[in-house]
Amino acid sequence: MLLKDKVALVTGATRGIGRCVALALAAQGAHLVVVGTNAEKAVEFAAELEQSGTQALGVGADVSLAADVERLVDRTKECFGRIDVLVNNAGVTRDGLMLRMKEVDWDTVIDVNLKGAFLCTRGVARLMTKQRSGRIINISSVVGQMGNPGQANYCASKAGLHGLTRSNARELAKRQITVNAIAPGFIETDMTEFLTEQQRTELTSQIPLERLGHVDDIAATVVFLASDQAGYITGQVIGVNGGMYM
Ligand code: NAD
Repeated sequence: MLLKDKVALVTGATRGIGRCVALALAAQGAHLVVVGTNAEKAVEFAAELEQSGTQALGVGADVSLAADVERLVDRTKECFGRIDVLVNNAGVTRDGLMLRMKEVDWDTVIDVNLKGAFLCTRGVARLMTKQRSGRIINISSVVGQMGNPGQANYCASKAGLHGLTRSNARELAKRQITVNAIAPGFIETDMTEFLTEQQRTELTSQIPLERLGHVDDIAATVVFLASDQAGYITGQVIGVNGGMYM
């Protein structure tokens, strides 16, 4: 058990990568705070975790709203009294060509993907600073490194996360808090379900390992970065992308 009795908070945990990350952290002995926009689903997932022996709290919160994040951190403190691992995983897309992109679609993506990570980090960093330990893991994307037509807002939000990761890593290192990003390639989830067979084939041809990624590929990297074994790694963007970007 790499994370026995650590408290881990995962945003966007009700499905996809976040759900798998939460399950993997729980399997290593962590207690979980699982967060999603849909409170009912978050509470349901926490109950499922409890049934398999994990102490868990489900919270409905919109990470782009400061008041929601404050309530989330307060509830975590009340329930567990500490926080060891934060996984900023909540993310949305509002794709469209830049020339036609609506302002609201730009704002929504930046607010959830980038501002959300800032608000959650600021919220938990106060506690972690007092504890003089912590792990913050931001889930970005390979397209934040490469760019992608039709995703100017999403790519900018994910590239922004890389800057946030490095700045926070420098600010928090003195308190033994590490901050890293994982940049997944294309992973089989609801987010990639919309791909046609032709798009899937074209995409796969650009991936040296010749397959899309699995949620487990990301969860395993989160577990490693959250563990004591990764204590000397900070400020890094770790690509988990099948070699798509090197
Ligand atoms: P998903 O759409 O399946 O799940 C997203 C989760 O985020 C959901 O639980 C949703 O409730 C939550 N969420 C959305 N807006 C929120 C908000 N405002 N506040 C709180 N929670 C919110 O997505 P996924 O494919 O599992 O992706 C998870 C993360 O990984 C995202 O940050 C995404 O950008 C990133 N990513 C995904 C892929 C991929 O191929 N799936 C590739 C690279 C990066």
